[in-house]
Amino acid sequence: MNILVQLTYLISAVLFIVGIKKLNRTQEARQGNTLSSVAMLLAILATIVQVEALTLPEILICIVVGGAIGMFWARKVEMTQMPEMVAIFNGFGGAASFLVAMSDYWTRAVEQPDLSTDLVTLISILLSVLIGGLTFTGSLTAYGKLSGKVSGNAIVFSGQHLLNLILLIVTIICGVLIAMNTDSVVAMLVLAAIALILGVLVVIPIGGADMPVVISLLNSYSGMAACTTGFVLNNSVLIVTGALVGASGIILTQIMCKAMNRSLVSVLLGGFGATSGAASAAGGGSEMVIKEVGVEEAAMIFDSASSVIVVPGYGMAVAQAQHIVREMMDLLEKKGINVRFAIHPVAGRMPGHMNVLLAESNVPYDKLIEMEEINDDFSNTDVVLIVGANDVVNPAARTNPASPIFGMPILNADKARTVIVSKRSMAAGYAGIENELFGYDNCLMLFGDAKSTLTKMVGELKEM
Ligand code: NDP
Repeated sequence: MNILVQLTYLISAVLFIVGIKKLNRTQEARQGNTLSSVAMLLAILATIVQVEALTLPEILICIVVGGAIGMFWARKVEMTQMPEMVAIFNGFGGAASFLVAMSDYWTRAVEQPDLSTDLVTLISILLSVLIGGLTFTGSLTAYGKLSGKVSGNAIVFSGQHLLNLILLIVTIICGVLIAMNTDSVVAMLVLAAIALILGVLVVIPIGGADMPVVISLLNSYSGMAACTTGFVLNNSVLIVTGALVGASGIILTQIMCKAMNRSLVSVLLGGFGATSGAASAAGGGSEMVIKEVGVEEAAMIFDSASSVIVVPGYGMAVAQAQHIVREMMDLLEKKGINVRFAIHPVAGRMPGHMNVLLAESNVPYDKLIEMEEINDDFSNTDVVLIVGANDVVNPAARTNPASPIFGMPILNADKARTVIVSKRSMAAGYAGIENELFGYDNCLMLFGDAKSTLTKMVGELKEM
């Protein structure tokens, strides 16, 4: 039986790896998801066969209750709330590792002190408690910030880094005490409490546009915690999947840092929200000359273009305008106009947000062009339509060294002959800063909810 279980774990691990690999290509992403789901099912079945501490009905009750809560949540959540959901799920992953490791420690230290505990297991327990606890409260704090339940701005106070350092030193001391004497229950409780406090302290100074990086990092932490818990439980599939999540989370974190031109250290030291808040307050008084355009006139501009690039952003998700954008693309293409989509790596509120929305409305994958590939084409493009994007097209990232987003790679939408911006008002984007593009000579503002304005424009285009 044990060999069968190990073999199932192996198959499951391979399926997880192939599944993740397939997520790399939009065309194969659904297949990758299915493979990973099958892998998870196999891992669960193999674990159920093996578990002795719980009876089958007890396990099934847990699966049904947990599955029902997860399904209810996943169905209810809006696409724009996805980062919050990812945050809270990361937190649950961390909490699971934390609790498993604590209970394993309790068994060894209190219930069965005669049980021999080797150093690898002990270190795994310590890391699971530390990383799992930090991930749990860190993710809850991130959830609070993203959902607006806690201020989204950076919360900084003097002596913050020193406090973190002191807590880290106490953690190391506790770890050493436990390694020297497994029965040091007080040291373990102190370590667990510090892990939970550190989670909050590490996330509160991070704000504004840095939040997605933190979510991705916490995702990686939850993987690492699962991996170390795999060592505690001697469970190979948990080790492999935890390592996969840990590594992919770190890679994603790196990609996002690069896309925002931020170093991971500066993200972790925090303060972005505080700076951007000040910048937006300062920028609030500037007087840009804005040119407005009506739906009819905008439709005429599109009708006479030969090349169009659509830049989707967070506002397209809010307005759920992806379907009407696709309809507009079809209409323009029928008129012989070349239409493509420029995808910024952090457009929207999660990596791949725009790809998912546009795939949902059946925009062909080859129409979605990554930033590096399309950026040189803007200067040869007749019209750029910006649908609810703001920060990702803000030229201040190139021109204004004082801007909090200076250095962040952006889409060069401003270089096109005409830029039409569909948004509701002059309100700032996620980073809370003014966008100088809206005052440029070649820029026309098409005010209103993206879905209703573009629906009217499609109506106009049909009549032309
Ligand atoms: P932004 O958040 O910069 O701007 C979105 C714009 O959409 C707003 O200015 C808003 O203006 C407009 N908008 C909102 N609702 C509507 C609507 N119904 N119709 C039309 N427009 C609307 O979006 P971007 O995609 O340009 O940039 C993403 C930002 O989010 C970046 O700063 C990024 O760092 C950050 N971020 C990215 C994540 C990721 O992983 N992708 C995760 C979390 C944050 P108005 O109110 O006037 O309509």
